[in-house]
Amino acid sequence: MPLPVVAIIGRPNVGKSTLVNRLAGVNEAIVHDEAGVTRDRTYKEAFWGDREFLVVDTGGLVFDDDTEFLPLIRQQAMAALAEASVAIMVVDGQVGPTAADETIATWLRQQSVPVLLAVNKCESVEQGLVQAAEFWSLGLGEPHAVSGIHGNGTGDLLDQLITYLPSTDQLEETSEIRVAIIGRPNVGKSSLLNAFVGENRAIVSPISGTTRDAIDTVVERQGQRYRLIDTAGIRKKKQVEYGTEFFSINRSFKAIRRSDVVLFVIDALDGVTEQDQKLAGRIAEEGRACVIVVNKWDAIEKNSHTIYEFDKAVRDRLNFMDWAETIYISAQTGQRVEKIIDLINTAAEQHKRRVSTSVINEVLEDAARWHSPPVTRQGRQGKIYYGTQVSSQPPTIALFTNEAKLFNENYRRYIERQFRQSLGFTGTPMRLLWRSKKLREVERNTANRATKV
Ligand code: GDP
Ligand code: GDP
Repeated sequence: MPLPVVAIIGRPNVGKSTLVNRLAGVNEAIVHDEAGVTRDRTYKEAFWGDREFLVVDTGGLVFDDDTEFLPLIRQQAMAALAEASVAIMVVDGQVGPTAADETIATWLRQQSVPVLLAVNKCESVEQGLVQAAEFWSLGLGEPHAVSGIHGNGTGDLLDQLITYLPSTDQLEETSEIRVAIIGRPNVGKSSLLNAFVGENRAIVSPISGTTRDAIDTVVERQGQRYRLIDTAGIRKKKQVEYGTEFFSINRSFKAIRRSDVVLFVIDALDGVTEQDQKLAGRIAEEGRACVIVVNKWDAIEKNSHTIYEFDKAVRDRLNFMDWAETIYISAQTGQRVEKIIDLINTAAEQHKRRVSTSVINEVLEDAARWHSPPVTRQGRQGKIYYGTQVSSQPPTIALFTNEAKLFNENYRRYIERQFRQSLGFTGTPMRLLWRSKKLREVERNTANRATKV
C-alpha cells in the first residue's frame, strides 16, 4: 500500500503550515503535487520512529462567510480527509476556542476519520497546559499542547498519531492485483482491454466511493485475480466530447493512484512522444509498478534491428523508468497479450517485496567499500549508519546518516544502482530516504528492530 496520509485541518492562521513543516522537517522536498480540480494539494513526507507517512495541509477551513473560493477550499479539505488515516485539527492556544473552531470540530466529529487535537502556539509548557485545557469543549478528546515554531509537544503528538496509522501488517492486504491501463488517446487501450478480457471472462464490478461511475473489471488467470481499474474510463470515448483533455487526464491520474501496477501503453507507430514521457513521469512519481506495453507491433515494418532500435528509443526517452520491463504486442491480433500477465505478476511481486535489514546493510557496506562517500571541502565526510526498509509499494528504504546533506546526487544515484544490482526490484520504482541522524529516531529504530527480531 502507498504511505498513509495525515490531514491537517483548521481555520486560517492557527499555524497549520508551520506545524506541517515541523512534522515533515522543513527541508523535505515536496513529493506529490496532486493536480486537483480546484487547488493543488501538497503532500509532504514525514516520519516518526520507523513509521513513514504523508502530511497534507488543507488550506484554511472556513465555513461561514462564503466568498467565491471558500467552498473550493472546503472541498479540498474534504478530499484530503477522504484519503486520510487520521486528521490533526489545529487550533490557536493563545486565542482560545473560537466559533469557527467549534464549527470545524462539529463537522469533524461527523466524519469517520479519527481526529487528534493540536493546540498550537503553546511555547510555555506550564501555560500551555492551561491553554490546552480550554479546548476540551470541542469534544475531540484530549487537547495536545504544542508549538509548531519551537517544536515542544510535537513528539507526544506524533507518538499518538502513529497509533492511528494502519499497521504494516494491515497494509499487506489482499492478493488481488490492481492494474491500470494508461496511455494517450488512440494508443489502443480499449483494444487491449478487450483482448485481455474476452467477452465471457469478465466480471464487471462497479466501485462505490469518490470516483463516481468508475467501473472496474475483474479477471482471473490461474487462480490470481486482477482488478482492471476504471475500465469505464477507458471505454467511454464520449469523454472527448467534453472538449478538454483535462478530464481524461485527471481520470488517468486517479486510476494510477488506485493501482498496484500500471500497464503503460504506447503506440509503436508514434514512438515515445513527449506526452508519453509526462505520463510515465507521473507513474514513477506516484510510486506505481509499471510494464511498458508497446502496442500495434503488427503495424510496423520490421527487420532484425527493429526491436533493438525501438528498445533503445524507449530506454533513452524513458530513462527514468529503466527498471520497467517492455513488451511488444498487438492488441488487434492478440500477439503476446497473455504474456503481459507474467510481467504484471513480477512487477506486483517486486512492488510489495520486503528485504531484511541485514541484507540492506550488506549492500550498503559493500557499496561503501567500493566507493566511499564524498568528502566536502571542509573535510567532512558522509557516513551511512544503517538502512532499513520502511515501507513497500513501492519499496522504500530509509538511510540513516550523520548528515544527509553530505551525500550529493551522484553518490545517491550510485547507492540506488547498487541496490538495483543486488536486489533487483524489477518492474517497480524504489525510494531512498536520506535521513540525518537524530539520536532519538535512531535509538527508536534500533529498539524497534530489536523487538521485531
Ligand atoms: P496557517 O494559516 O494555519 O497555515 O498558519 P501559519 O503556519 O501560516 O501561521 C500563522 C501565524 O502563526 C504565523 O505568523 C506564524 O508565525 C504563527 N505561528 C505558527 N506556529 C506558531 C507557534 O507555535 N507559536 C507562535 N507563537 N506562533 C506561531
Ligand atoms: P484507446 O483510445 O487507447 O482506447 O485506443 P483504441 O483501442 O480505441 O484504438 C485506437 C485505434 O487503434 C483503433 O482504430 C484500433 O483499431 C487501433 N488499434 C488498436 N490496437 C491495435 C493494434 O494492435 N494494431 C493495429 N494495427 N491497430 C490497433
